[in-house]
Formats: sequence, structure tokens, C-alpha cells
Amino acid sequence: MEKRLRLAPSPTGLFHIGTARTALFNWLYAQKIGGKFLIRIEDTDFLRSKSKYTKNILEGLKWLGLKWDEEPVKQSERISIHKKNIKKLLECGAAYRCFTTEDEISELREEQRNKGLPPKHDNRHRHLSNEEIEKFISQGRSSVIRFKIDEEKQITWVDQIRGEINWQGKDLGGDLVLSRRALGYEIGDPLYNLAVVVDDNFMNITHVVRGEDHISNTAKQILIYEALNFKLPKFSHTPLILNSEGKKLSKRDSVTSIDDFRDMGYLPEALANYMAFLGWSPKSADNEILSLDKISKIFDLTDINKAGAKFSWDKLNWINSQYIKNMKSGELSGIIWKYWDNMGWEPPSQEWAIKLTILIKDSMTLLKDAIDQSKPFFLIPPIQKEGLDFLKNKDSKASLKLILNELIEQNKVKLDKEKAKEIINEISKMHNLKKGILMKSLRVAFFGSLSGPDLIQSWELFSESKSDISRIERCLKSI
Ligand code: GLU
Repeated sequence: MEKRLRLAPSPTGLFHIGTARTALFNWLYAQKIGGKFLIRIEDTDFLRSKSKYTKNILEGLKWLGLKWDEEPVKQSERISIHKKNIKKLLECGAAYRCFTTEDEISELREEQRNKGLPPKHDNRHRHLSNEEIEKFISQGRSSVIRFKIDEEKQITWVDQIRGEINWQGKDLGGDLVLSRRALGYEIGDPLYNLAVVVDDNFMNITHVVRGEDHISNTAKQILIYEALNFKLPKFSHTPLILNSEGKKLSKRDSVTSIDDFRDMGYLPEALANYMAFLGWSPKSADNEILSLDKISKIFDLTDINKAGAKFSWDKLNWINSQYIKNMKSGELSGIIWKYWDNMGWEPPSQEWAIKLTILIKDSMTLLKDAIDQSKPFFLIPPIQKEGLDFLKNKDSKASLKLILNELIEQNKVKLDKEKAKEIINEISKMHNLKKGILMKSLRVAFFGSLSGPDLIQSWELFSESKSDISRIERCLKSI
């Protein structure tokens, strides 16, 4: 039988890191077992669902490299089917109309609170006669449909991550509401637990992998599966993502949407790689830098931890820097080019852009670090105090003058790394100047300080962008 997994996001907000990690685990497992990865958009909360969020979720999945099979299913298009199934449950006596008013429910809650009890419906309308139902309807009372939950029932399943899970019917909050309020004999809009079972069955889902916050829903859903005579899928509940204080990662932790990570300068491959290890501890991986393709070969749900997974910026940053380092320079320079473009900086040539990329990539953690790292190659930096102090040395000024003269003389000659080294060596020999002084003086002229990337490689770039001479001239003028 074909193995089928799904992500069932509610489009009520931007694509969240928790949903993305659930998507990733589903996708990885589908690859591992040769199954399909499907999408169902759970858009039946009409007030909060927005098509811009559906778009954001699908774009985020694509950005992360999580391709889905088949056209996504829209839950809102299946409401009449959900209602048909509710009708079936009504007809076979597994569900009933409940006319309890909002006020009556509040009273019951209040009573339970006073007694220190958890909220639980008292199933007061489970056994209404036809006459009583007629009476409520003629009074204009609305009703929800409730699914009978047997208090004595023990619900058990073998979770692929957590092993055997047991749940008591009496701990499920009383008979379960399947649909929103409606008047007369109408059935109101179906709710999550009913819709999810009907749709997972319709989509032939064989494995449900979702967050641990759904464990009690699974217990409820198993009862609905049984009442509708549907085949049960295998269930797995993944650990939550926690912040550094061990609390569920939330908006307060500054970034939670996948867009935030993209905008901060994380590469999709790095973020996906990091997320895979967020709660998954493989027995066989000796390296944590692995492509999704490689991870999918060794991935197994049984290697997912039960305990919450702590989110670590340090680890994510480290993984991102590794991906930047290992990326082909041509490809990386294409990405960085967009950052330069946003700053209004124009590289003189593609070759120059690639050389600059090679020069800075080892010191980048985030893509946006490219801005700071490459800034001195586009804008002439001011000379800082340490630079000015260094230039007080009379040999420094002499060094810069000699280099400048040599460059002006050799103006037509293309300056590459060899040529640059040759100029330093010759001036040092001929004028008895220390190479260190020559190099440091030049560094101040180029970068305004004594730090910066490799000098000879930088010089080649400054020469190509025709700013080596002007930088030395400017420096000499300022001392
Ligand atoms: N729409 C639900 C959510 O976003 C789906 C849960 C499930 O996978 O069944 O939490």
C-alpha cells in the first residue's frame, strides 16, 4: 500500500518554524519510506484564515526545498463532505444535538472552577427525546453536534516516537463538539477534530506526524475513526521547539516565521539542515552538516526524542557559516550581489565579485554579513586613530609614496597577486624598508585601520576597481 504523509497547516499566520519542522519531518520520512508528502490547507476558520498566509506557507516550503506531491487539498472545499459524515454519526447514534446555551456553559464552567475541577461538559442533552428537541428548536435555540465519548473507554495507540500511549475517555472533556452552532435541524460548520479525520481518510493518509500538542486530539480522533469505520493511520507526536529558558518558542523570541530567518540571512539549506537536528538524534550520523537528501536516507521517526528540543542560535549560526563557506563562490556571489544591489553598490565585473566573495566568505555567519565585510571595497573608509598613529612613523609615509610612484609608473600593467608581491619585495629591498611597514601602511591606506582581509588579495581587487591609487593619495593627503 502506498505510504502517504501530510502537512495540514492552518493559514492563520506566517509560516512558523514549528510548522516548518513538522513539514520537514513528514517530508524526510516520506522520502525515507518511498511515500508521498501531501499538503492540506486547513482554512475553515473563516475569520482568521487568509490566502496570503497560504501563499506564504507554500512559498516557505518551496524555499526550504520541501516539494510536495499532488495538488494541495483545501479543507474549506470539503465542508459538505464533513457535514455528510456528521449526519452519519447522528444517524447511527454516535452523535447528538446539544442545545446548551453559552450562558449555561459559562455557569457550568464557573461551578467547576469553584470546585477546583477542570472544564468538562456534563453531556446533559445526550438523551433528549424527539419532543424535547422539537421544543428547543421551536424556542429558537441553536445547537451544536456532540460526539459521545464513553467515560470508561481506554484509548491506546502505539506512537512511533513515544511508544504506547494510553488515554482515558473520562479525561477528554466530555462529549466532543463536532460542529459550530446552527438553528433548526441544520448542521453548523464542522470543527477541526471531525474535519481532520474525514480528510485524512479521504486523502488515504497512512502516517500522521504532528506536534505533541495534538496528543489529546489524537485520542479524540481515534474514537471518531472507529465510529466512522475508517482505517487508522500510524500516529507520531514530535517534541516542541523550546527557547533557551525551556519554554515553547514563541513570537517573543524575536523570530518565529520562516520569512524572518530568510530576511536575517540564513540559507534555506542551512536552516533545513539545522531544523532536522532539532529533536532528531540519529544513531549513525557522524557529521551534522548534511543535505536533506543525505538526511532522508538515515532518517527515522524512532530516532526523534520525546523531550522538547532547545533552539540554539549558536548552532544554527555555525551551520549557516559552514554552508556559506562550502558554497560554490559563483553561486554565493550571485546571492550576495542582491545585497550589494540593495545598498546601491555596483561591482566592476562578475570576476571581481567572485574574487571578493572568496575573500569574505570565511568571515561570514549570515548572508547579510556580506554588507559589512565588503563595505570597504565599495566605499572608502575613514582613517581611524590606530591608522593615523601608525602613519606617524616616517617610514610609513615614505612607503606609501614609493608604492604610489610605482603604481603610477606601472599604470598600464595589470596588477595581480604576483605583481603586488613583487612591488613590495622590490621596494623593500631597494629602499631598505621593512616589508611589514610597507604592508601595514598600505593596509591603513586601503582600510583606514590595521585590520581587514588578506592585503594582497584586497589590493588586486582595489586595483581592478581602480581605487588603489586614489586611496593611497587620499591617505597621504591626510597626514
Ligand atoms: N491545522 C492543524 C494545525 O495546524 C493540523 C494539525 C494536524 O496535523 O492534524 O495544528
